[in-house]
Amino acid sequence: MEWETKLIHSGYDIDKHTGAVSIPIYNASTYRQDSLDKPGAYFYGRYGNPTREALEGMMAVLESGSHGFAFASGMAAISSALCLLAAGQHIIAARDIYGGTYRALTGLFSRFGLEHTFVDMTDIGAVKAAVRENTSALFIETPSNPLMRVTDIRACIRLAKELGLLTIADNTFMTPYLQRPLELGVDVVVHSATKFLGGHSDTIAGVAVVKDEGLAGRMLEIQRSFGAVLNPQDCWLVLRGIRTLKVRMDAQQKSAGQLAAWLRGHPRVGRVYYPGLDDFPGNEIHFSQSSGPGCVLSFTLESGSAVRSFMENVRLPVPAVSLGGIETILSYPARMSHASMPKELRDELGISDSLVRMSVGLEALADLQEDLDRAMKQAC
Ligand SMILES: *Cc1c(COP(=O)(O)O)cnc(C)c1O
Repeated sequence: MEWETKLIHSGYDIDKHTGAVSIPIYNASTYRQDSLDKPGAYFYGRYGNPTREALEGMMAVLESGSHGFAFASGMAAISSALCLLAAGQHIIAARDIYGGTYRALTGLFSRFGLEHTFVDMTDIGAVKAAVRENTSALFIETPSNPLMRVTDIRACIRLAKELGLLTIADNTFMTPYLQRPLELGVDVVVHSATKFLGGHSDTIAGVAVVKDEGLAGRMLEIQRSFGAVLNPQDCWLVLRGIRTLKVRMDAQQKSAGQLAAWLRGHPRVGRVYYPGLDDFPGNEIHFSQSSGPGCVLSFTLESGSAVRSFMENVRLPVPAVSLGGIETILSYPARMSHASMPKELRDELGISDSLVRMSVGLEALADLQEDLDRAMKQAC
């Protein structure tokens, strides 16, 4: 099936009792057991819920996996996937990994004996050099946030296969519509469904998908034991969001591409970071593993104070953390997502005070452009 069709016709068969076209939200914590010896298909809400299963089934189809798992947030999905590892093992991740994942590895999992090394993942040599005797996993996130640095998924998989490492990929920025890491050999895909999958800035949710029966069994055990499941209402909201994933991403990506090109020629703009630009580092690798550049880009103005005044002057984009909604969102990494990072490290990574990140929404391109242009001209 083509994407348009798959998004509409996966995950749910029309309700047999009522003919309802939209899946019911099953608010049930427990299910009647007709036989004490043999529980029915459902048993207890943490173990299984039909609305949650619809979302999980949908995500398995979209990511070319066999099993999906819905969690209470992207971080719950990521932390649950990290629970596949054990004390004494070692994981390699990118230095510019999502801040929450960085905190989970350094502040939480390290206390349980999981060791970590952060490297420049765009350099496979650096990944190899970080391998130790007890290295058990690679955590991939591409393109990265906010500089859109591209990691070569296939090169990571070759190394992982050679050394028998588990691979986890955070596919939040691309979504399965643009990038399907399981097809390239990744073991576990994780998502913040809060972003493009939900798509409407109205819910916090996460998903993990695997394609291997053994891993699926282990993830199910973690989902049930750790218990960070997504509630039925929010499963329904994410499913509803996913139905329009393709049309939203097509439109938002088209605007993002046009804005990236326009920003690059703008006199107030320094650098533009967007994998869709022909000369963007890693552009070729990106397009060998993804079918589009996505809807998020970053750019610099001349100074931190110019960014401040620009962000105070824009009317349409919402100054906020998060991304992937139908509204354009402008983030200031130095004061928002990466505020807890020491300035020296931020500068070393290129996350300067003059950097702005933009998640492009569904507004008319002309309106966005006019608003950005006016706010940049006023910026001092
Ligand atoms: C937002 C985000 C997360 C965390 O997801 P939550 O739903 O906020 O818990 C993880 N990874 C990436 C790339 C994100 O953008």
